[in-house]
Amino acid sequence: MPNKIPDYARQYVPDAQTDWKLFDSICYAVKGTASGEEQDYSLMYLQWWKTINIECFESRLQPLFVSHEVAAYGHWIGLCQYQPQRQIKLATPAFKHNHHEKAVINRLAGFEDLIGSHHNAAMVILHEMMHQSLFEAGKNPDHDSIGWAALCGYLGEVLGLPYDYQHLKLTKVPVLDDNGNPIKIPILDGDGNPVLLKNGKPKMKPLRKNIRVPSDAQSRDSKGRFSESKPLAPYSAFYCFPYSEESAFIQHNTTVKTIGKAVEKNDGKPVSIPPQF
Ligand SMILES: [Zn+2]
Repeated sequence: MPNKIPDYARQYVPDAQTDWKLFDSICYAVKGTASGEEQDYSLMYLQWWKTINIECFESRLQPLFVSHEVAAYGHWIGLCQYQPQRQIKLATPAFKHNHHEKAVINRLAGFEDLIGSHHNAAMVILHEMMHQSLFEAGKNPDHDSIGWAALCGYLGEVLGLPYDYQHLKLTKVPVLDDNGNPIKIPILDGDGNPVLLKNGKPKMKPLRKNIRVPSDAQSRDSKGRFSESKPLAPYSAFYCFPYSEESAFIQHNTTVKTIGKAVEKNDGKPVSIPPQF
């Protein structure tokens, strides 16, 4: 039985029905235009896309090309492209890596027998389909959006992940100095000049920053977790969903820089660049 999208995630999945004729046309086009390995990969990815669409998205996503890219640009291992045409691309590292870690996607119907590198590529496709779902639902598709958190919450339950992906909401809080007092900054007019009070002093306002907080106000333990059995997901767990941060796949595709501009900016300390997908 396909999974049912819970009410809180409903608005982050398009209110549509998959055009399965278009899906068949895309498979047909791949057979006609690609050959050899390229064709094999694309057809396999499309079948995985189909299974995930049925099992997790109530068959509401629209078919697109899912392609296998030999060249990896920078650190990306997967990409959901919206322009000039919608397309999901997988770079070779998504497929090459062969760590037999905890097989999360295997818990999904239709994926019980996937192993090694197949497992990784299917996980990356699921991740890209979450971006696709948000985009097609007209929502912010970024990793730090509330919609992303909602889909992580829903799919985390489906896959039996150990985190509680609380629905994050952005809230503004004052920035405090070392003594715990709010830092104030001048208010600027349209030309960028300080707005002055009658006494000639600049009008000030508290400096605020955006932070992400769980939308459900639950009590937490001393470590900031909601419960022992289901710890709250750290923000960094959201962008590598459905992988855990410590997974061998994420570690393997993370680059640590010890020289260069980014390191200089970081006071000479090494900079970790996680995989982009
Ligand atoms: Zn992503």
